Amino acid sequence: MRTGKRLNRSLVLPLAAVMLALAGCSALPGGSSGEDSAATATTSPESAVAPEATAGATPSAAGESDSAQAAGEEQQPSPLPKGLTQKDVDAGVLSAKVKWKASGRLQTVKGQAKAPGKKGEVMKVRIQVEKGLKIDREKFADFVLATLNDKRSWTEKGKRRFARTDDASAAFTTVVLASPQTSADLCRPLQTMGKLSCRNGDRVVLTNYRWVKAIPEYQKNRQGYRQYVVNHEVGHALGHGHEYCAGKGELAPLMMQQTKGLLGCKPNPWPHP
Ligand SMILES: [Zn+2]
Repeated sequence: MRTGKRLNRSLVLPLAAVMLALAGCSALPGGSSGEDSAATATTSPESAVAPEATAGATPSAAGESDSAQAAGEEQQPSPLPKGLTQKDVDAGVLSAKVKWKASGRLQTVKGQAKAPGKKGEVMKVRIQVEKGLKIDREKFADFVLATLNDKRSWTEKGKRRFARTDDASAAFTTVVLASPQTSADLCRPLQTMGKLSCRNGDRVVLTNYRWVKAIPEYQKNRQGYRQYVVNHEVGHALGHGHEYCAGKGELAPLMMQQTKGLLGCKPNPWPHP
């Protein structure tokens, strides 16, 4: 990938194809990225969260002031896609409908985003979104990074902070958002049925099925589910294994497989809530 700038453009498509092929290979038993039991645990699928929040925000309405008072507000048509809230849109979701398959080609979100703050090891994440998903890639990328840089996440009091890179060799993991079909393929040999997310080798694979729909327990807080699934799967990439619900009414540990059900625990998207 150290090719000259000019070559890069023409290599994008072939490279994407090669990367997919590699992903397929690494998913074969024994072929996955050099992690032993931790890897297996990490690969465990999770997912689900619910939609939330009320709509109403009009991103494109900025600057309108005449009609912004009282009665005037109702003249503004809501720009939100049907069935989605502003928080859904903020996570990159552009449609409440999820198609089972997309193109199978992963597109890297270009450019870099610096890690906030000054303290702690900078860990770089690469973000890819399957082409053909109704997802705003930049917003998705921003959501992932904002989640990881939250004080309740894996920053752990200045121990580390997260930046975004488009360079695979600089990233400690690549977070992929893919259609149910492609996510199932990328998670193999783990069986996700396209409805669970996973960490497989150097990839975190999130299924768009859950990114959009979340799970029943998070229906009033789909944003929380999305934070959960990012933190959980990246938690695997950082070496954390699964934990379990300690009892009814307790806060679910982040590393519990919450997508499979909360078993009486309360939803919790954070390692350090
Ligand atoms: Zn897991």
